[in-house]
Amino acid sequence: MIIPRVGIGTDVHAFAAGRPCWVAGLEWPGVDGLAGHSDGDVAAHAACDALLSAAGLGDLGANYGTDRPEWAGASGVALLTETARRVRAAGFEIGNVSIQVVGVRPKIGPRRAEAEAALSTAVGATVTVSGTTTDGLGLTGRGEGLAGLAVAVVYTR
Ligand code: MG
Repeated sequence: MIIPRVGIGTDVHAFAAGRPCWVAGLEWPGVDGLAGHSDGDVAAHAACDALLSAAGLGDLGANYGTDRPEWAGASGVALLTETARRVRAAGFEIGNVSIQVVGVRPKIGPRRAEAEAALSTAVGATVTVSGTTTDGLGLTGRGEGLAGLAVAVVYTR
């Protein structure tokens, strides 16, 4: 009997001029980067939190926080790869991860397939990526920052 478990993840970073922009495992030339001591990849970070939540393994801070200096500055893809490994080590198989990027830039649509390929490779299961905006409202609508939301399904059999 397959027993599925769902997990949820959210991440937000502010834009920071002068940094490379990494979102959904891709570099986006011509777009401001995201602040933080990591690459600020809100899509990858939200996916990590969703996978960890589904598996009951806590969150990004508990797994890779300031008391784990070996992960300081790790890329979103590196964190996602390691998170998938931890989820499987805990006895789960990964069904899929669905990510939504919320903001005015970068525009996900033209590179969606590329992003999905990069993140699916990291997870070793299907990852889908979509984009949306917030009608000019809030930190995402004003272009102050970018948000990532994700849900993940893991299962045991
Ligand atoms: Mg983050």
